Amino acid sequence: MGLEAVRTTCPYCGVGCGVLVTPDGKGGATVAGDPEHPSNFGRLCSKGSALGETLDPATRLLHPKVDGVRATWDEALDAVASGLKRIIDRHGPQAVGFYLSGQLLTEDYYVPNKLMKGFIGSANVDTNSRLCMSSSVAGHKRAFGTDTVPGCYEDLDEGDLFVLVGSNAAWCHPILFQRMVKAQETRGAQIVNIDVRRTATTENAQQQLTIAAGQDSTLFCGLLVYLVDNGHVDESYVAAHTENFAEAVANARAIAPNIAATALRTRLPADEITRFFRRFAATERVVTLYSQGVNQSSQGTDKVNAIINCHLAAGRIGRAGMGPFSLTGQPNAMGGREVGGLSNQLAAHMGFTEGDLDRVERFWAAPNLVRKPGLMINDMVRAIEAGSIKALWVMGTNPAVSLPQAGDMRAAMRKLELFVCSEVVASNDTLRARDGKRDGESGTSVHLPSQGWSEKDGTVTNSERRITRQRRFSDAVGEAKPDWWATSQVARRLGFAGFDYADASEVFAEHAGLSAFENEGGRDFDIGRFAAIGQEDYEGLKPFQWPAPAAGETKRRFFSDGGFFTPTGKGRFVAVAPPRLAEPVSAAFPLLLNTGRIRDQWHTMTRTGLSPRLGAHIPEPFVSVHPADAARFGLHDGGLARLSNHHGSATYRVMVTPNQERGDLFAPIHWNDETASDARIGSLVHAIVDPYSGQPDSKATPVTIAPVAMRFAGFVLSRRRIPLPRSSFWAWSAVPDGFAATLASDDDGADVLAALRADIEAGVDEDQGGEAGRIEAIRYADTR
Ligand code: SF4
Repeated sequence: MGLEAVRTTCPYCGVGCGVLVTPDGKGGATVAGDPEHPSNFGRLCSKGSALGETLDPATRLLHPKVDGVRATWDEALDAVASGLKRIIDRHGPQAVGFYLSGQLLTEDYYVPNKLMKGFIGSANVDTNSRLCMSSSVAGHKRAFGTDTVPGCYEDLDEGDLFVLVGSNAAWCHPILFQRMVKAQETRGAQIVNIDVRRTATTENAQQQLTIAAGQDSTLFCGLLVYLVDNGHVDESYVAAHTENFAEAVANARAIAPNIAATALRTRLPADEITRFFRRFAATERVVTLYSQGVNQSSQGTDKVNAIINCHLAAGRIGRAGMGPFSLTGQPNAMGGREVGGLSNQLAAHMGFTEGDLDRVERFWAAPNLVRKPGLMINDMVRAIEAGSIKALWVMGTNPAVSLPQAGDMRAAMRKLELFVCSEVVASNDTLRARDGKRDGESGTSVHLPSQGWSEKDGTVTNSERRITRQRRFSDAVGEAKPDWWATSQVARRLGFAGFDYADASEVFAEHAGLSAFENEGGRDFDIGRFAAIGQEDYEGLKPFQWPAPAAGETKRRFFSDGGFFTPTGKGRFVAVAPPRLAEPVSAAFPLLLNTGRIRDQWHTMTRTGLSPRLGAHIPEPFVSVHPADAARFGLHDGGLARLSNHHGSATYRVMVTPNQERGDLFAPIHWNDETASDARIGSLVHAIVDPYSGQPDSKATPVTIAPVAMRFAGFVLSRRRIPLPRSSFWAWSAVPDGFAATLASDDDGADVLAALRADIEAGVDEDQGGEAGRIEAIRYADTR
């Protein structure tokens, strides 16, 4: 590859920042923000800035493997195709599942969805976006008729009030948060932060509302009642463009009839609620931004609709500086929604209606188009446990860590007759879940090497509906291939026509064609302008927002003058259910566990875990505890603690902080069995889901906590992560030229020292021909 600067996109969060990369010709690259990209105008956050430190090929999966043995691509693809065919012939298409990822490019997403829904004939294709923002999708569909984000990032430059709900945007969407802070500094815009804890976002907020877990809908029902009772409803907008207003107001009144009742349920001071309601009512240009704190709930869809109800009532939607705004977590969660990556979507924002089914069937010339939605990932796990799903293909995600009750997924995976994993890294918890066959276990495991961020070509869509090219700037490592290619090859081996793509541009063109097919403005997602795009134009494609129809105007915003995609064309108010916790605390499990991200790590750390700069931010898995709870449970700051419940347990460093509310705990999602001894938080999270979206409730699981004694402490510096026994606490983080691990145990550390000694001896023998097999140990003991 050349050494010219390449315009591409950051692969982390849904902000979708443009990145300018200059390869160094030796596999590395310098990275800067793209000053011409309208999402970030040259800025990058800590994660984006450190992208150049994550390109190390040492951790990569270089070649296909079948049952742990290196194979050629032909052998591996034959194993996948023959395994799928055998299972489909014997058990039908419902015995197959695909689990995709918001990390995939749109082209990589489009092809497996087409293969499953149109040709294999199953809709058991879901994505890890189910864990991220499917409640926003369901809320949008209920209110707007489609999954439409009504606003755009310019609203953050033009708004006067930003209400953040369940969103630590200062850490999780930093570049957008900086736009809000700039509006605050230059124009006096205000920020209200609604969250169950005080976070980095609180530091810039004019008002912090530390709300009781699960009560967001109560607060927004109270706001709707306040707007109605105090004359702040846009009567003409409501009358002309909406329906179900009276029912929603009556319902809101039953949940939050007045400020006192709202205060009681939300545990917020009444005067703070009044201040917030007055602020919202008095500010025309208000944007309400929400993310995982809203979505990851057993009532996430209702929370989304409670927020949208207030914007519809005030007529504050689709105009400059105002509207409800879902901040998507992943770089291409939106692209996945566009191709139909969720099991209850079809493709191109179409659903399972007769009209849409007929249209997609004809467009794809699909021989086996599925007629109804498939299983969401949570139900897929149960189906694997029950033996009804026998083949699973995972692409670009690590469900053995990230799913709720993650231990169930690990156990279920061992039952599969065929497990296929398209991955960038050589080792992670999911790839290793089937290591070492036990008695009675059979089945085939196929690992397919995927191209990484620097190597692949395609598009992603960010939170404001903006599609940007991700461009390759380095040669593929080993034999890594694009995921769309691997899927197409399997489709062809299964005998299906329609998968002869020469490159990613052909996949994109087909996707654009489907979006425009028989679309006379009745479907929001239309990028028909690019249905005939060729390779050259695709290469030069500039960032654009959809809709981008072949003819007619594009739009920056939706719904200022109605035009909803419901059967009546009206926006729907939704009567939400009374807020409640999915699972109350008990004497055995008296604390509520909240899980989330930290500023400098991404998902399960397979990339950010390689950067010393990012590792320096928070090097160990931690649990935040209120001082009163620390005293109650005998914990101290910097000590170790074990969290546990019916589903699992995990061990963390204790961080005592008044930012945490009493009765609540917070622990990050990132650490896993590769990076820590016992810190997979997903193993504790209950698998309870929202009834409309199927999104798991990851923010409020009852647990208990207890101190872990620690007699031995130490650290290791090493060129690589050394396997250590799980009997001790350890956590690896990247440091310059290697890794550091902190160690602790409640014995004298003999196990961990023996493991280190064995590894060093093995390493010395191997690297130096046994010449320098001498190890000097320096030991210090504090006998107290
Ligand atoms: Fe990447 Fe998100 Fe940071 Fe932008 S804000 S640089 S997209 S992680």
